[in-house]
Amino acid sequence: MDMEKMVNLCKQYGFIFQGSEIYGGLANTWDYGPLGSRLKNNVKDAWRKKFIQERDNAYELDADILMHPMVWKASGHVDSFADPLIDCRECKTRHRADNLINDFSNSSIGDAMTNEEMIRYINENKVPCPKCGKTNFTDIRQFKLMFETYRGVTQDSKSVVYLRPENAQGEYVNFLNVQRSMRAKLPFSIGQIGKAFRNEITPGNFTFRTIEFEQMEYQTFCKKGDDMNLYEYFKQYGKKFYMDLGIKEEHLRFHDHEKLAHYAKAACDIEYKFPFGWGEVNGTHNRTDFDLTRHQEYSGVKQEYLDPDTNTKYIPYIIESTYGLDRTVLALLFEAYEVVDDREVLKLHPYLAPYKVAVLPLIKKNHSEKAKEIYQLLSKNFMTNYDEAGNIGKRYRRNDVIGTPFCVTIDDETINNNTVTIRERDTMEQTTINVSELVDYIEKRIKF
Ligand SMILES: [Zn+2]
Repeated sequence: MDMEKMVNLCKQYGFIFQGSEIYGGLANTWDYGPLGSRLKNNVKDAWRKKFIQERDNAYELDADILMHPMVWKASGHVDSFADPLIDCRECKTRHRADNLINDFSNSSIGDAMTNEEMIRYINENKVPCPKCGKTNFTDIRQFKLMFETYRGVTQDSKSVVYLRPENAQGEYVNFLNVQRSMRAKLPFSIGQIGKAFRNEITPGNFTFRTIEFEQMEYQTFCKKGDDMNLYEYFKQYGKKFYMDLGIKEEHLRFHDHEKLAHYAKAACDIEYKFPFGWGEVNGTHNRTDFDLTRHQEYSGVKQEYLDPDTNTKYIPYIIESTYGLDRTVLALLFEAYEVVDDREVLKLHPYLAPYKVAVLPLIKKNHSEKAKEIYQLLSKNFMTNYDEAGNIGKRYRRNDVIGTPFCVTIDDETINNNTVTIRERDTMEQTTINVSELVDYIEKRIKF
C-alpha cells in the first residue's frame, strides 16, 4: 500500500481529510473524520490503560497549551529551537540544510554539523538541489519553529505567548504540584496527551509531519543512578506497547542517537517501517536533571525532592518517552491494511476499531425493525454501525475495509428464535448465537 492510496482510502471512508479542503487546503494540516477520530481516541485509551492505569505511581495531567513565556526561555526553545534553512538560488526552493546532506550522503551526518560545517560540506561535495540539480545555495538562516501569538490588545514583545512546541514543559512545571497533591514517591510518572505546534516547512508525508500534532507524553521522575535502568525499561515498554497494538516486530526498530541534545544523556527512537522508509513514532530520552534545574534557575522556585529514605534533598532526573499520536495512527493504518483474495480488510486490533460491531438486517423490509432493536441494545455498550443499504456481501466488504471486527446479521431466525449470525472480520467465520449472549461475546473479544 503506498501513501497516495492510503490518503485516498482515509478520505473515502471518513478517517482523515485534508484540512480546509474547500479552500484548497492548508499545507500539512489534516482533519480526522468520524472514523479517524474514533481510531485516534481508541489509541489514546489504549495508551492511558498501559501507561496510567496499569502502572504504579503514574498520574495523568492536562496542562494548558499556552504557558508563561519564561517556560520557553528556561527550556531553551526561545533561543535555539530553529531549523537551518537554505534556499536554492536557481529554482528558489527552500530546503533544510541538514536534510539535504543526510539525503545526499544517505546517512545522518548532517544532524551533528554546525551551520558552517554544513555550508562547507555542501560546497565541497557539490550537493545538488533535489529540485533542479544545480548547486547554488544561499547562506543558512535559522528558521524559528515556535508559533508566536499575542495576548491582550497590543502586539509587543511583552505580550508574546507561544503555542507549545512540545507537551513536556507542562509536566515539568507541575512536578511539585503533582508530587505533593498525590503524595508521590520517586520514581513516579506524569503522562499527558495533548496538542503541540511546530512551524515546519518540510513536506509532510501525509500525517507523519504536520504543523499541529498530538503527543502522548510520559515523564518519569527518578533518582540519579536509577535513570539508565528506567531508560532501558521504557524503550522496551514502548516497543511492547506497539506490538500489543498489533504491529509486527519486524516493522519496528530502535534507532539510538549518536548526536545527543545538550540536555540528554541517552536518546533512542522507535521507528516504524512506513512506505516512505523508517520513521520515528516514539522518542525516549534520558534528560538528566537538566529541565528541573533550569526551571529552578528561571523561576526561583526550588524543584527539589525530599527523599524520605535518606532524608536528603535533590533535583530528580527525568526519563521522557513521547509517542506521536498521529504517527502511531498512521502506522496502525498501514499495518492493518491487507488485501485478501481481493477483499480489502483493515485488521485493526478490535480494541482500536472505530466500530466494534455492525448490525445488518438481511432484508431491509423484513428485518430492519428487529435489527434496530438490536442496534439499540449494542450501542449502549459499543460503537455500533447500522447498515441496511445494499446487498449483504457489499455491507460485509464495507465493514471489513473500515476494520469492524464483528458483523451481526438479523434474519428470520432472529425474529423466530432470537438468534443472530455473527461474522468475524479476519476469518469470515460465522457463528450463530442467542441475542442474550451477544454483548458478552463481543466484550470478551475486544479487550486490550
Ligand atoms: Zn534548485
